[in-house]
Amino acid sequence: MSEVLVETKNLVKEFKIRRRFGGGDRFIRAVDNVSITLREGENLALVGESGSGKSTLGRLTLGLLRPTSGNVFYMGKDIWKMTKEEFREFRRNAQIIHQDPYSSFNPVKTIFYSLSTPLLHHKIARNKREAYHMVADLLRRVGLEPPSDFMNRYPSRMSGGQLQRIAIARAISLRPKYIVADEAVSMLDASLRLGIIDLLLDLQKEYGLSYLFITHDLGITRYFIHKGGGKVAVMYLGSLVELGKGEEVIRNPYHPYTRILVEASPIPDPKMAKSRGIPKLRSLDIPSLTNIPPGCKFSSRCPYADTICEKKVPEYRKVDDRLVACHYAEQFKTGE
Ligand code: SF4
Repeated sequence: MSEVLVETKNLVKEFKIRRRFGGGDRFIRAVDNVSITLREGENLALVGESGSGKSTLGRLTLGLLRPTSGNVFYMGKDIWKMTKEEFREFRRNAQIIHQDPYSSFNPVKTIFYSLSTPLLHHKIARNKREAYHMVADLLRRVGLEPPSDFMNRYPSRMSGGQLQRIAIARAISLRPKYIVADEAVSMLDASLRLGIIDLLLDLQKEYGLSYLFITHDLGITRYFIHKGGGKVAVMYLGSLVELGKGEEVIRNPYHPYTRILVEASPIPDPKMAKSRGIPKLRSLDIPSLTNIPPGCKFSSRCPYADTICEKKVPEYRKVDDRLVACHYAEQFKTGE
């Protein structure tokens, strides 16, 4: 089995919010006691509705945010206990692809400038001439040919799909081991999304990358896991509710929230579509992080909630080789 690359232990991130009419400080907990592990060359798809804490968790694993408590380890080392030099090396190895490629590039700099600057800064290229050849190779690698057509263009002169390929080229340019793809395909036309996922997975095979693939879209998760394998982690209001082998979680989810997400996601092949007859949500409204229900966070929406759920926070239960945060996880193991 490959080495553990990235690990979080009991990770918590709170943000201070201002009260409108004064009063003491108030905090929301965007990430609540989250522990995940990602091995070298492995995928972890992180799924959940908007506001579930997925992006905050992704940024915590990159050292872009400091946790309120808990730890982030990279190759066994706590990233916040690293020396300056170790942290710099970690940041070179841990990259991000953002949702909106247009906002992640400087609009007044050419593509060559944006791709060559990190190569020169990290001394991967010794001079501009070497950087030119490296950028040309990167552009070819992400399917933008001939590279000379793209080198001197500005971001505004490129399509969303082309610019996201450039963002991928930039993410792999420093030869990282770990990439957070944060809703990396959700702003693209549906026709381009699968091509970008295929590209990410091809690059994974070539460079042995590990992906934290963040998405709100279960259809996209299904495609990513089907093609690339790996685990699925489902988040709800800052907490992990289910974590297990991707194909199994999607085929047969145990947590009621995951079951509802899967049920709501269209399946391309009608032969695969199978309704489990899951009752509807009690409420369509996602509670605010400032007003989380006591007990199970999902209890205000869960069709199976009872009085225990409304009082007692469910602990993680190990069902098969899966972690499920539900008092009744074993009962929801439906089998096929
Ligand atoms: Fe639903 Fe209760 Fe399970 Fe929470 S603990 S998911 S409310 S059944």
